[in-house]
Amino acid sequence: MEASRYIAAMSEVWGTLLAEHVDDGSGHCRVCRPSRWPCTLHAIAGEARLMALPGGGSDPGEPSGGAVR
Ligand SMILES: [Zn+2]
Repeated sequence: MEASRYIAAMSEVWGTLLAEHVDDGSGHCRVCRPSRWPCTLHAIAGEARLMALPGGGSDPGEPSGGAVR
């Protein structure tokens, strides 16, 4: 997606989007209501994070490669 590539270098942008565009508890975005969550902006920010942090970055403590511990 073009937009995600554009903001991938701006971590504060997708970081803010991921922090604010969250499920409000009823399956809708807290910011974009009544849009369903995950909303378009959350999806874009998620793609940007994947580009900025190859491997996901969701589990910093997890070794990459899927090796058994
Ligand atoms: Zn949203």
